[in-house]
Amino acid sequence: MATFIPLTDVRDARGQLVRRAIASPMAPGPVVDTRSRPLADLRISVTDRCNFRCVYCMPKDVFGRDYPFLPHDALLTFEEITRVARVFVGLGVRKLRLTGGEPLLRRKIERLVEMLRALGDDLDITLTTNGALLARKARDLRAAGLSRVTVSLDSLDDATFRAMNDVDFPVDKVLEGIDAAADAGLAPLKINMVVKRGMNEASIVPMAARFRGTGHIVRFIEYMDVGATNGWRMDDVVPAREIVSRIDAAMPLVDADPNYRGEVAERWAYADGGGEIGVIASVTQAFCRDCTRARLSTEGKLYTCLFANEGFDLREVIRSGGDDGALQRAVAAIWRQRGDRYSEIRTENTSRESKVEMSYIGG
Ligand code: SF4
Repeated sequence: MATFIPLTDVRDARGQLVRRAIASPMAPGPVVDTRSRPLADLRISVTDRCNFRCVYCMPKDVFGRDYPFLPHDALLTFEEITRVARVFVGLGVRKLRLTGGEPLLRRKIERLVEMLRALGDDLDITLTTNGALLARKARDLRAAGLSRVTVSLDSLDDATFRAMNDVDFPVDKVLEGIDAAADAGLAPLKINMVVKRGMNEASIVPMAARFRGTGHIVRFIEYMDVGATNGWRMDDVVPAREIVSRIDAAMPLVDADPNYRGEVAERWAYADGGGEIGVIASVTQAFCRDCTRARLSTEGKLYTCLFANEGFDLREVIRSGGDDGALQRAVAAIWRQRGDRYSEIRTENTSRESKVEMSYIGG
């Protein structure tokens, strides 16, 4: 997929080329792609580093001690991130999600939350974390203006959890983080569990039971062929249908309507009113039709799909002196040409193609 940003020549009075600028101004405000999907969500990766090595995302044998993580000066600064976010908000985005790697590893992350909150009181500013540092950070994040938090938790069984994160991190610490976030006013939380056959499918029902009636929503995620390093096989996928039927057998479920267009998780409510769960079925029930998500990598590349293999360099626009108008025109032009629908066309072959790593652009 070619990197395309429409450029035009800027010439001085004598016709001398001064510089190349991004082409004709486009109307601000909601932009839609080639499948009439509006740009509505921006996911911002603030670091490519993580303190876990989850087997489905950042396998230790690839992301080892010598892995060339990005140097600090390659990362967008908080000011640059806020500028890009402001441009997206100007184009109709109302949801900003901070991701990573592990976003709580980025120093003073609450300062960034504050800067993003200043872009609008109506913005839904969320963060996805593995919960390892949440107990320490929850209050400051809430005070800075964070709306909600999503915690990744792949099992309640300590041995299984330690095997999934592959750094021997105890599950209790994450549960402490969840409680601290709830106490800090970030409830209800979303809790994401990636299900991989042969590793944690036995944890599905206990996880559902643990959070039923608490207000927190567990979302069970089908194991995906993100990136090109997790050795994905279709055989290791536990389909959404099976996840739902396992829970339904123990705690009857009824299906529930989506809250809004583009909601990633399919909703199921407990028949007895004990709350709800979600299922994110990118492999067996593709939801590209309503995908409204853009992703910004930690070094300023814009990706229009989680499974893309190339991004558009917005940092270059910023660091070469481009103003907000130039950024806005670039983003609008990129989104308008978007046609991504990877999950609809996934095959065993496509799963082996090189794709951007999830730890680099966030889930
Ligand atoms: S595969 Fe790409 S286009 Fe489809 S839902 Fe996921 S991110 Fe969106």
